[in-house]
Amino acid sequence: MSDNVIIRTFQHVRTSVAQWVDSDFIPGGALALKEKPEQVEWVRTLPFLFLHLGCLGVIWTGWSWTAVLTAISLYFVRMFSVTGFFHRYFSHRTFSTSRFMQFIFAVLCGTCVQRGALWWAASHRHHHQHSDEPDDKHSVRQKGFLWAHIGWITCSKNFPTDYSRIKDLSKFPELVFLNRYDLLVPVLFALSLTGIGSLLHHFAPSLGVTAGQLLVWGFFISTTALFQATACINSLAHVFGSRRYKTDDDSKNSLILALITLGEGWHNNHHQHMTCVRQGFFWWEIDITYYTLKMMSWTGLIWDLRPVPKAAYSVLELKNQT
Ligand SMILES: [Zn+2]
Ligand SMILES: [Zn+2]
Repeated sequence: MSDNVIIRTFQHVRTSVAQWVDSDFIPGGALALKEKPEQVEWVRTLPFLFLHLGCLGVIWTGWSWTAVLTAISLYFVRMFSVTGFFHRYFSHRTFSTSRFMQFIFAVLCGTCVQRGALWWAASHRHHHQHSDEPDDKHSVRQKGFLWAHIGWITCSKNFPTDYSRIKDLSKFPELVFLNRYDLLVPVLFALSLTGIGSLLHHFAPSLGVTAGQLLVWGFFISTTALFQATACINSLAHVFGSRRYKTDDDSKNSLILALITLGEGWHNNHHQHMTCVRQGFFWWEIDITYYTLKMMSWTGLIWDLRPVPKAAYSVLELKNQT
């Protein structure tokens, strides 16, 4: 290996490690990075490997009902953050809230370990603009199932936050801060779980839970399941299910996906009408996120929930079904 290759490799690793701390640290500029070829990069796969391998910690920590129930609860609370806040609030602005609640939503989203709300929203808005076209970052039709499911996130080209797409959000410095230092909330979240596990171990030994158990079940297992279920909307929701509307993309409606993602499975509905808060357009299309957001609106925490457009039920549009 020549000295040049060694120096380049060292610089690449150094930049990648620095980006785990500060995701806006891009020495050559975001534009240069976006020109890079689409390929899996091993340094960018390390956080995913770490997250998935962390689940194996269960071999040493074992399980307890407290740990398992914590993992299940945190899965659903954070899935609600993914669909209610990352998706329906930050990406599509389908309801309104106060600046304070918006910040709380962004912190909750941070615990999902799916990077910052600004990156998430910018990437998702890009998906809607180019759904299943050659420019789509995660299209099964264009780049295959595995790439749409996980490959696209491990590629440097898709790493920078496209601030030009989220000008409505980037005017809030607190959101930019959380987006830039997107490792901060996950680390604090994992440490808190470990701390709570340790306290319970000492002060409530009858629960049979330990610090390691809460870390492995509450953080690693719950977050890995959350990531895999979320990624299914980018991959499976464009492959399996039925289509009500003749959209230009391959989006599908699926009850199973809607149940595990609290309503995101009505993906064909969503691609047809992305500006409404509700994704299950009919009463039998279960959409837990919508019901929860509706209840939140009764408390005044959120308001101005955008309704399903009348056109969604019009004979003309439904006649166009595939
Ligand atoms: Zn889609
Ligand atoms: Zn969307």
